[in-house]
Amino acid sequence: YLPFGPEGYLVAVATSGFGYGGTVSLLSHIWLQRIHILLITIPTILVCLYIGNIYTNVLAVMFILGMLHLLASGQQMHNHYQANLIAKERLELLATTDELTGISNRRDFEEHIYTIIQYAARHQHQLLVFIIDVDSFKKYNDTYGHMKGDECLKTIARTVNDQLRRGTDMIARYGGEEFVGLVADTSLENSIKTLRLVSDSVLQLTIPHCNSDATDIVSISIGAIQFIPHTGMDSASIIEQSDQLLYRAKSEGRNRTYLKDLTSGEVISLVPDSMDS
Ligand code: GH3
Ligand code: MG
Ligand code: MG
Repeated sequence: YLPFGPEGYLVAVATSGFGYGGTVSLLSHIWLQRIHILLITIPTILVCLYIGNIYTNVLAVMFILGMLHLLASGQQMHNHYQANLIAKERLELLATTDELTGISNRRDFEEHIYTIIQYAARHQHQLLVFIIDVDSFKKYNDTYGHMKGDECLKTIARTVNDQLRRGTDMIARYGGEEFVGLVADTSLENSIKTLRLVSDSVLQLTIPHCNSDATDIVSISIGAIQFIPHTGMDSASIIEQSDQLLYRAKSEGRNRTYLKDLTSGEVISLVPDSMDS
């Protein structure tokens, strides 16, 4: 009473297997998945109908139901797959972005600087690393309130971030009211220009700060170093050296930048144009 020989049953099992396999493996391409299911099941259904006895007709109906089931569950799996993909991208973004300011966070910076150091060491390129610290920011909060302080940090982050344009450059929030910057493959002249651009951009915001120890608007101090890295260099020692120059900028009146060229040992002091003379 068998409608097929043993080969027929083998084809039936293979059809189900291939149909399901395609559904799973083509999760990300919904149309390829559908075409695969149809290509695998339709010939078997047609053969069953062509033979046309009661058994093969029942089998054909079963295959049609199986095909519809595969199409529906394939769509469902595809939806889950897409939702997971979006959630994963969102998590990755959250892990590398600072929540308040929306720019890169410290973790993203650490990863980025590691890659840049390896590349710069191999090609003997100069790097510029700098720490930005907002001047008298505790007094800003005390005078204008914490909410205004948050707004101010967001504006500063956006502004300084806009000053660096190359894909390898980066500004990240290092913590509190401190930011770190990295410019790859630079010259001393370009570094001076960049640092001026960054500090001037904050002054140009002209955010009032009547209790600042530096001036009557929000300003920043910067400690920066310029160097050719070697592969074993770690970011902690780089940050520490920039921090020493930042300390110097703070103790000499704030609203200024100290840049040290580690190759020559020269320290350059940069003050805003408005303070020159
Ligand atoms: P200096 O010029 O020497 O840097 O003085 P400062 O007051 O900026 O430095 P200090 O380290 O004494 O204070 C930093 C302040 O930054 C204290 C803290 O309340 C404020 N701060 C840190 N993170 C945030 C933040 O996310 N939002 C706000 N509104 N304030 C913050
Ligand atoms: Mg600070
Ligand atoms: Mg500060």
